[in-house]
Amino acid sequence: MIDTHCHLDVARFDADRDAVLRRAWAAGLTGLVVPAIGPDAWEALLGWPARDARVQVALGIHPQHLPQLPEADDAAHLARLDALLESGVALAVGECGLDGPSEAGAPMARQLRVFDAHVQLARRHRLPLLVHCYRAHPHLQRYLETAGVPEAGLLLHSYSGSAELTPRYARLGCHFSFAGPLTFPEARRPLDALRKIPPERLMVETDAPDQPPHPHRGERNEPAHLPLVIAAMERALERPLSAELHANTLRFFGRERWS
Ligand SMILES: [Zn+2]
Repeated sequence: MIDTHCHLDVARFDADRDAVLRRAWAAGLTGLVVPAIGPDAWEALLGWPARDARVQVALGIHPQHLPQLPEADDAAHLARLDALLESGVALAVGECGLDGPSEAGAPMARQLRVFDAHVQLARRHRLPLLVHCYRAHPHLQRYLETAGVPEAGLLLHSYSGSAELTPRYARLGCHFSFAGPLTFPEARRPLDALRKIPPERLMVETDAPDQPPHPHRGERNEPAHLPLVIAAMERALERPLSAELHANTLRFFGRERWS
């Protein structure tokens, strides 16, 4: 099992990060991807895979982080991102994307410019793109219909689109991953979307420390909870998924083995 999206570098794990990792491996995980939230995180993340190759990293700017960064610095941050991707350590570009609620601090025009820059970097470095899209699907659809998906692939993380929207993203070539909300007893929308996803485009994640699965709602989430998300997906699709999710993850990230 590989957790394709967890923020283990954030401060909420500072006190017990090693114990969190030990619980992940004990739960049967064999790898995880830590996508950066913002420029301050990049240098530290790049040192992680050399210490433990099971932990792989991605570099980007999360749209919810943009309101905390002066717009005047966007170009400098993106130039530095380009240079750091050159080292070949990061296995993807992200987290990046579009966020409806963040429009108040970072207008959609700026979010789209920064997202477009990430797409260009993914193309230039031939890396897959890890995308956050929350309450901004019309903007993302419109963008992707015009610009297309980077050749190395695009993963819609913690997918929140409707069942109607899903085939349109699939036709564009997108991959999809799901997190805790799909395990909630009242979950309908993510399960309806899940059933529309081509089997070879499906992945799984925890998005820790956020989005804890049932019955851990209200707690800090961690990668050891990944089996709960897989189990809920298996119940919905009525087939075993572990092998399929693993193969999809290796193929998407362009690896024959994880570590
Ligand atoms: Zn995230």
